[in-house]
Amino acid sequence: MQDSLFNPAPESPTRVTQQSENLQTIQVAVPKPLRSLFDYRVTPQQLVKLQPGMRVKVPFGRQQLIGVVIHTDKTSNYVSHKLKFIVEIIDNSPCLPNSILELLQWVSRYYQHPVGEVFSHALPALLRQGKPMSPVTESVWQLTEQGCNTDSATLGRAIKQRQILDFLKQATTNNSATQTASRLNQQWDNWRDAMRRLEQKGLATQMQQASIFANTLKPAATALHNLNAEQQQAADTISAGLGQHQAFLLEGITGSGKTEVYMQVILDVLKRGQQVLVLVPEIGLTPQLVERFERHLHTHVAVLHSSMNDTERLNNWLAVQDDNDDSRAHVLIGTRSAVFTPLKDLGLILIDEEHDLSLKQQDGLRYSARDVAIMRAHSANIPIILGSATPSLETLYNAQQQRYIHLILKQRAGDAILPDIHLLDVRSQKLEHGLSAQLIQRIHAHLEQGNQALLFLNRRGFAPVLMCYECGWLSHCPRCDAYLTLHQRAQQLRCHHCGSETRIPHHCPDCECNGNQSELNPVGLGTERVEEALATLFPDKTILRIDRDSTRKKGELEDKLQQAKDGNIDILLGTQMLAKGHHFPRVTLVGILSADQGLYSADFRASERMGQLILQVAGRAGREKQKGEVLIQTCHPENPLLQDLQHHSYPDFCKDLFIEREQAMLPPYTYHVLIRAEAMDEEAPIEFLQAAKNSRPAIENKDPNSVEIFGPFPAPMTRRAGRYRYQMLLQANNRNDLQQLLHHWLPLIEKLPNRKKVRWSVDVDPQEMF
Ligand code: ADP
Ligand code: ZN
Ligand code: ZN
Repeated sequence: MQDSLFNPAPESPTRVTQQSENLQTIQVAVPKPLRSLFDYRVTPQQLVKLQPGMRVKVPFGRQQLIGVVIHTDKTSNYVSHKLKFIVEIIDNSPCLPNSILELLQWVSRYYQHPVGEVFSHALPALLRQGKPMSPVTESVWQLTEQGCNTDSATLGRAIKQRQILDFLKQATTNNSATQTASRLNQQWDNWRDAMRRLEQKGLATQMQQASIFANTLKPAATALHNLNAEQQQAADTISAGLGQHQAFLLEGITGSGKTEVYMQVILDVLKRGQQVLVLVPEIGLTPQLVERFERHLHTHVAVLHSSMNDTERLNNWLAVQDDNDDSRAHVLIGTRSAVFTPLKDLGLILIDEEHDLSLKQQDGLRYSARDVAIMRAHSANIPIILGSATPSLETLYNAQQQRYIHLILKQRAGDAILPDIHLLDVRSQKLEHGLSAQLIQRIHAHLEQGNQALLFLNRRGFAPVLMCYECGWLSHCPRCDAYLTLHQRAQQLRCHHCGSETRIPHHCPDCECNGNQSELNPVGLGTERVEEALATLFPDKTILRIDRDSTRKKGELEDKLQQAKDGNIDILLGTQMLAKGHHFPRVTLVGILSADQGLYSADFRASERMGQLILQVAGRAGREKQKGEVLIQTCHPENPLLQDLQHHSYPDFCKDLFIEREQAMLPPYTYHVLIRAEAMDEEAPIEFLQAAKNSRPAIENKDPNSVEIFGPFPAPMTRRAGRYRYQMLLQANNRNDLQQLLHHWLPLIEKLPNRKKVRWSVDVDPQEMF
């Protein structure tokens, strides 16, 4: 990241400090879409108790809101009698420490987002609602010793009781002795009566527990692998840097053992008595990963991710701040918003798959958890590790500029070696539902050896569009500039952009009335269609499809991934859900059905993403003793980017992209901000953006050319969910110029008369142009 990121834009309009009256006022971040802090009056008694970071209840219009105190020592520049008193103080001690208060204010300034909303985003829901800052306990059930030693057969015809006893026994052997009501509800609709009987018989018991850790039993430590020379060197270099700020880029090819390096370094941090914050993409946070960390580090790991309930979130959030050394969690693994979690004594931040798009929030507070983490590590004066097999160009660029220390793992760990990658030219070939004869032949060959094949297609559904061969009708979404995807099994046409669903028509809606025998046909490929084709081609093989449609129910994705790892699955087929991070020991063949989607796209980042995804998918092949093979079907085998990937040369691939970006003056050589606007009426966003452009203020001592403005122009998908979408791109050679301009400009845009006719937003460092 640019150094200039660390020089915040000037403070919001200067506050007049006046000692005229003895005003006892505080400044509060209130959860409203407004840019400023709000002043409230407090009594002298309240003022003594108050510290920044405490929550207070305040009147706001006709409402009462929960806000966070930011300053207690500034004098208000408003007339005192116009200010209202706070309603009450909620906390006895700050729920956010100073370091986090500062970080959040920086986030608010840098991402141009209302400060109170940033604070809401950072607090667990229960604290946002004003609940006390203490762990929530809930009822859990477990077997008594007598229960553990009782054979369920002795319970005779009490079927439900027998089931529960067996279930709890099984759970105990799986390391989770206690079961919450919600977990039991997942098993049975009605279990409470039977449980009560078991309790009366002394076989089960109920108690209160703060639901912090999934595994209540202390895990036994297992030693790490002996690190190879590259791994050891990387771990040593990072560990030598503990105790001060430094960013490390750990670039290690898939299967090179990055996770083992992380754990080695984490152990060193734990030895210093400090804590580690690990950020991972949503898709990478599996129970297996948490279990691997707990087992090797021999410590409880707190977890934060979006599908946890409010209680679990609060308890995990508190677990890393516990004053008690023994009950405090020393490692926190979480998805992007975990970056805002206060920790008692943070010693290291680690970001796995730093290139992953899910680290950037794409709506509301549009922040990059990676960049916020870098800022946090900088101000906390601690090291940060950015790990990836395929680092983002931004991060590589920073490493080139020597802002980060670049550590490289070139070999696969253990005995595994890299697979061969072949480009299959499918231009003049007849494909069978997307599969070339060569690919089919290689699948046969690998399955005959008793291995698994993994096929990747980044498009779910049966076919991306339905077409009438008679008149050319196409299944357009009525609300978007996009086609409705055919979902054969559900007998529906679905829009993947706005969620519209309709039944598949029997006749072509256009030529039906002409009395023609219309012929509707699927065009193109989706995973459902390939699954069907595979079932015909390989009738005696087991096929497992993993995509968003096949894993909708809770726990289904985990079950399927587990089956893929240890079941008798022959062919795995899926989208990027299947591609990222997983370790399937028996996969030796990876087939990428089409590499061409990313080559020619409206978004300049598409080729970078394509390369990252292809190498991630390819990295699933041959991760154990047997060498793997990767086949990529393409119509552009001569494309230099694909050629680089074929040679596993991510550095060459990036070198080509760097040249492109530099010539086109795109990030990382420049910085972007996107202002978006949308409305049902097509004129409104254009007029709004034009008015915004015209309101651009002149900045003192600044060349107006230091920030260029492109647009307004239509978004690549102009109509979505019935709204017309336009945007305006700001580009500059340095972040400060952009920040300064936005700081003066946004307050003007917020006053434009036609702003109410549109929904508009600001995206600093946008990752997608859509
Ligand atoms: P990455 O995170 O880079 O994809 P992992 O850390 O998951 O790689 O390691 C890939 C596989 O190699 C894992 O099964 C891991 O247990 C194994 N492994 C890692 N380091 C070593 C080592 N030094 N010796 C033997 N096996 C190792
Ligand atoms: Zn027709
Ligand atoms: Zn749609």
